[in-house]
Amino acid sequence: MSKFSVFNGPVVVVGGGVAGLVTAHLLAEHGAKVVVVEKFSRVGGLARSYEYEGFSFDCGPHRFHTENPNIQAYIDRVLGSEVAVFPRKSEVYFEGSYYRWPLHPKNLVQLPPKLAAKSAIDLAINGWKTYEGSSFEDYVLRQYGPTLYENFFKGYSIKFMGIHPKDTHPDWAKVGLNRAIIDDKLQMQNLSQLAKSTFLQFNKAEIDFTYPKTGMQLAWDNVRALFEAKGGRVVTGEGARLIGGNGKIDAVEFGNERIEPSLVVWTAPITLATDQLGIERPNLPYLATLFYNVLVRGDLPRNYQWCYYGADDIVFSRASIPRCFSPDTCPPGTTGIQLEVTCREGDERWRHAERLTDWVVSDLLKVGLVKNRTDVQNVYVERVPNTYPIYHSGYPKELERTRRALSQYENLHLAGRTGMFWYNNMDHSMENAMQLSKRLLRDSGRDDAEEALLAKGILKAG
Ligand SMILES: Cc1cc2nc3c(=O)[nH]c(=O)nc-3n(C[C@H](O)[C@H](O)[C@H](O)COP(=O)(O)OP(=O)(O)OC[C@H]3O[C@@H](n4cnc5c(N)ncnc54)[C@H](O)[C@@H]3O)c2cc1C
Repeated sequence: MSKFSVFNGPVVVVGGGVAGLVTAHLLAEHGAKVVVVEKFSRVGGLARSYEYEGFSFDCGPHRFHTENPNIQAYIDRVLGSEVAVFPRKSEVYFEGSYYRWPLHPKNLVQLPPKLAAKSAIDLAINGWKTYEGSSFEDYVLRQYGPTLYENFFKGYSIKFMGIHPKDTHPDWAKVGLNRAIIDDKLQMQNLSQLAKSTFLQFNKAEIDFTYPKTGMQLAWDNVRALFEAKGGRVVTGEGARLIGGNGKIDAVEFGNERIEPSLVVWTAPITLATDQLGIERPNLPYLATLFYNVLVRGDLPRNYQWCYYGADDIVFSRASIPRCFSPDTCPPGTTGIQLEVTCREGDERWRHAERLTDWVVSDLLKVGLVKNRTDVQNVYVERVPNTYPIYHSGYPKELERTRRALSQYENLHLAGRTGMFWYNNMDHSMENAMQLSKRLLRDSGRDDAEEALLAKGILKAG
């Protein structure tokens, strides 16, 4: 049994996002004494919501999907009947027209004829071509050929990440693009796969997504309530600080409090942990996002959940419509639209985000989402740091060095998206939390942790 048992003293979870809350809840279910410290005024982390004037907007649009029955069982229990279920509806705006997204073999033919022909030729011959090198650019060229790369991926990627695809690690494409943009079930590497894929798509069942009726916040408020019902404590509005000792974290400080923990689960940015512990700051940067939450009178001409805008003369890179996730996210007769502009924390855009509001509204008119400026009832601006890890070409070495340096603290465990510098989704943070809590319980002498959760119906048998 580990000397750092979850039953030997308080466990401090830094960060009340998905990973932190689920870990805390599962440990508390087994009788551990757990305190969650969250810097923001409410829980949920990157999956929290904002509410104003009867509208609800998430911190970026969040659709939930998992193939893992344990995660599905957990989320079903958390949400009960308070769910909306819908098929995917994503689009891309390209040269004044809207197309279905992920790029679908069927709608290649709907692209402007020259572009469609060139893309089809690329796809037909790219099986024979080799692209040396191992950047994001090489990866996309290999998968989709030069036409789609030049027209869709390159511009969007520069606009979104602020770095050139040549300097971006291919992991960005593998975990990011494949998950977020490209439907990885569609194989388009050559013409026969394209034809087969096109044919099969006619009968393919759509993936359904789950969404809490009143906004994503509901899910994490419910997990918080489950945790507190088991004696857990949540402190919000306080940033936690690690005090390192000889091979272990001696204390965690927040507000006027100091806790000497048995274990610390760290889900805040990995670079903050290195700063606090006096470890050389690694080159592991995060993107930040400005969210323009627009309250609109009346209906909209489009009904996608979200749409990508790659052109560099449009200020936002994505728009989303919460009403297409659940009608309960806005008052009757109105619609919310959320626009995302990426930046770096503290840069010019970040500091003067409000100055972009007029430009954002003008672009809404330009892309045809809003007909008249007078339809806009109000715009709220939110600045969110650490939204995406930036996978530059040297990030794996930096991450490895940092993880090694932090592993000298035996009672410190990294988890979640920001804590592990991991471009993931909510279900991955939940899975990570389940694995971590199971391991910590096993190391503390509880080999029956999984069976106990199965018996309570928190996980699913089989
Ligand atoms: C724009 C956007 C869209 C997304 N869309 C989807 C989607 O459609 N589907 C999906 O499944 N996933 C989506 N995701 C991913 C999802 O949001 C994350 O996977 C998930 O929220 C990560 O949770 P986490 O707890 O691991 O990390 P985080 O949410 O980053 O949690 C870390 C927490 O630590 C807190 N913190 C930071 N510093 C301190 C400190 N010093 N002390 C205390 N607390 C601190 C932060 O405030 C935060 O609450 C999206 C993410 C973004 C940014």
